[in-house]
Amino acid sequence: MAVGNELWANWLERLYNLRRDKSGSHERPHKPALLLSIIDLLDRGEITRNEIPLSDKLIETFKRYFAVVRRQNDQATIQNPFFYLSGDQFWRLVPKAGEGIYQAGATSGAPSVAALRRRVQGGEFNSGLWRLLSDPLARHQLREGLIARYFPQDRDRLAALIATNPVAQPSATLREEMPPGRDGAFRRTILVIYDFRCAACGVQITLENKTVSLVEAAHLIPFSLSRNDQPTNGIALCPNHHWAMDRHLIAPVPDRSKRSGIWRVNENRLDNRIEGQRDLMAIAGKSVILPGEEKFYPSLESLRWREQHLVTTY
Ligand SMILES: [Zn+2]
Repeated sequence: MAVGNELWANWLERLYNLRRDKSGSHERPHKPALLLSIIDLLDRGEITRNEIPLSDKLIETFKRYFAVVRRQNDQATIQNPFFYLSGDQFWRLVPKAGEGIYQAGATSGAPSVAALRRRVQGGEFNSGLWRLLSDPLARHQLREGLIARYFPQDRDRLAALIATNPVAQPSATLREEMPPGRDGAFRRTILVIYDFRCAACGVQITLENKTVSLVEAAHLIPFSLSRNDQPTNGIALCPNHHWAMDRHLIAPVPDRSKRSGIWRVNENRLDNRIEGQRDLMAIAGKSVILPGEEKFYPSLESLRWREQHLVTTY
């Protein structure tokens, strides 16, 4: 099943902006951990319908993910995200026959697991998101996006957890779903010359002999404007940094020698008091992680375009 790019970007953005509870500047990991657990069970074929019960299996899976991502005094209370995810407008609790609808905010605190099981059939995703989650490749990418956004520091341990799931690895048939033609060629070229490494944070995760990669290829000057698919107009980025660069929150700009690049961040739009944004701001002043061969370095023109848009976008 082909998944439209626009639809895909839209959902990724919504998942990148989950409303989360805070304790000081620490944002609770419950909602993204629940989503990772559901993705895990989808991979295993334990969930097949868009009505996800609060099952023992889900609770057990949630606990495994939670043990990796928890911080401070975080408690593995699945009832919280299962209930409050409905506040993000893409998850709805389906009441059992004869029961009223639970609404986030309608009561004080989340109901207990027992109460949820008594009154709720399961959770249901918005049908557009469910379509993406039902597609193994799209699901894989959503998971990588969630990890890059919420748990970059736990990436290795999460990858190890996911690797224990024999069906989580995209199969050979999925590789054929990689975009063919122009897009596919650009992507492949950029990933290879950057050795599958994000040019901002250096993360490098590949599966299946480098046919599946967390890292994405991005145009510096958008293709719609430049019609330029040369490697010198591209860069490899993880979903997190790709997302931020597309929104002109961060940019690779020419360094003083004008031969390579350094990262700049948009200080007007990022706030280092906020956890996720602080991580983005941390790359300010760092060198762009470049390809091995100088002929593939980003062109000065492309870096200047990024610089201009960074400073003029408020
Ligand atoms: Zn990155």
